[in-house]
Amino acid sequence: MIHLKSKSEIRAMKEAGKLAAEALSYLIENVKPGTTTAYLDKTAEDFITKRGGRPAFKGYRGFPASICTSLNNVVVHGIPSENEVIKETDLVSIDLGVEYKGYYGDLAWTVVMEEAPENARRLAETTKRSLFAGIAKALPGGRLFDISSEIQKVAESAGFNVIRQFVGHGIGKEMHEDPQVPNYGKRGRGILLEPGIVLAIEPMVSEGTWEVYVDSDHWTVKTVDGKLSAHFEHTVAVTESGPEILTYHEKFL
Ligand code: MG
Repeated sequence: MIHLKSKSEIRAMKEAGKLAAEALSYLIENVKPGTTTAYLDKTAEDFITKRGGRPAFKGYRGFPASICTSLNNVVVHGIPSENEVIKETDLVSIDLGVEYKGYYGDLAWTVVMEEAPENARRLAETTKRSLFAGIAKALPGGRLFDISSEIQKVAESAGFNVIRQFVGHGIGKEMHEDPQVPNYGKRGRGILLEPGIVLAIEPMVSEGTWEVYVDSDHWTVKTVDGKLSAHFEHTVAVTESGPEILTYHEKFL
């Protein structure tokens, strides 16, 4: 069942989205060689709670941290650790969710470190481009898979693959609501998009195969072939005048 949001709910979600985006922006300034992902996690938790929010991932189905840090061949849901130190060559994806005054905001961004392989930069740029191409299709009167197919088209025409096993989602008073938002599909299919639908659109794109497996920690999702993967996400409302990014931030464009 899809919960359509009123204009005032979308305004409230924009506040949650803003807090999430400001927290992630602050975190990304701290993504440096030598930093542990546990430090980023603590920094995120402090930032969010000081502003009156709650890190939405912490405790979600038992997830032990406030953010997901997914490096290199990790696709999503990586658990921050004291033992994981960011290197100059890494591709660093950070996913962050906030609950603020009863509403959720969710976004992710991939940082390419200075000496990461050339293909890492191209992968991240392509994944980001696929996100914004998908967002541009979050139009009233369109269909859900218009978003999906656009993401797939951008990723595949650059020679990359979209992950099938994990998808975007509706979001609102719950972090995960209907509908699921796959990163692949046929244009013109899926539910009708109408004002009040709010979606977390989140392409996960891999350099090699789209096949993944979940690590023995029951969270960390990795590519089967060990190749790189990138992840970008925004929370987006379908409005009468087109898509509105609720996790808007000048750094995440
Ligand atoms: Mg999400």
